[in-house]
Amino acid sequence: MTTSEGTARLLLGKPIAADIRAGVEAEVAGFRDRHGRAPGLAVVLVGRDAPSTVYLEQILRGCAKVGIDGRFVEVELGDDGAAADGVEAAVVRAIRDLGEDPEVNGIIVQMPLPREVRLRAVIEAIDPAKDIDGIHPLNAGLLRLGYDGFLPATAHAAIEILRRSDIPMAGRDAVVIGRSPVVGQPAAFLLVREDATVTVCHSRTQDLAAHVSRADIVVVAAGRPGLVTGAMLKPGAVVVDVGINVVDDKLVGDVDFDSAVQVASAITPVPGGVGPLTNALLLSHLVRAALAQVEGRGPAIVESAAGSPAMRGAR
Ligand code: NAP
Repeated sequence: MTTSEGTARLLLGKPIAADIRAGVEAEVAGFRDRHGRAPGLAVVLVGRDAPSTVYLEQILRGCAKVGIDGRFVEVELGDDGAAADGVEAAVVRAIRDLGEDPEVNGIIVQMPLPREVRLRAVIEAIDPAKDIDGIHPLNAGLLRLGYDGFLPATAHAAIEILRRSDIPMAGRDAVVIGRSPVVGQPAAFLLVREDATVTVCHSRTQDLAAHVSRADIVVVAAGRPGLVTGAMLKPGAVVVDVGINVVDDKLVGDVDFDSAVQVASAITPVPGGVGPLTNALLLSHLVRAALAQVEGRGPAIVESAAGSPAMRGAR
């Protein structure tokens, strides 16, 4: 952690991810002892050449390291328009089959989906009890109601890095930039659950800089390199940069790190901040899913681990 004046503390994801992975590894070993097999993760690939394949390969390597049985399930993309319905039907069939396979405890579907496959068809096919990246409406709804369903791993990571770095959130003004269902919106709901006062900004927000300048906590998930600069920040703000962009062959976030680090009190670097935590949390979601399944519990009755008293009161 950096402490010199005018330079923010770096919130590093790797040590936190290592802690989470160590816990997962122990739980996986216990699961294997009790049930004679490892928890299983299936990653549905729709066309192997998509850019996100590299990220998914990383997840499978992470599985192997902690003893989780991870595998790809590939659905081939037809290369003519006539195959379009066939591809979606094949993806839906693959997801439903995995839902019925007792050795598969978690399912992730490669995103973004190709044009031929509607997101709606995918989310309707996935078993919410195996939806470890929180795309099913049941899990999204549980989050809104203050229960822990399965959280989208990236949004979870953005808030978990603050919690585990002892950054206070209760009562602070937070701005989330981005409102996607997988990152911005769930991150905003998680901040509300932590008792922050939250403003959600997006591409139609008038005067983004004015909103950012009032925020104690800024979570940026827009996919726009350099969107937030040090000049926009309130001195001492805490910045979580979720963005992943490639600029001149280098990985950068959405925040202009060099200027922001001079003004913020704490900031997540890219790479090395939210990213490593995302993968570790996904594995922890998988273990939770596996345990809930063998104990006959669905996602709807998993109790919330955190939240405001009002939210915790939800039954
Ligand atoms: P997305 O679906 O493209 O959503 C981007 C959001 O940013 C939208 O809500 C959009 O507003 C908003 N936005 C775009 N330009 C803006 C601007 N100039 N000012 C204010 N808001 C703006 O992206 P996503 O899937 O949420 O991902 C967001 C970022 O996180 C991407 O860089 C992605 O690569 C990264 N990501 C990181 C991880 C990780 O593990 N760290 C995982 C997943 C994604 P509208 O709604 O008005 O269009």
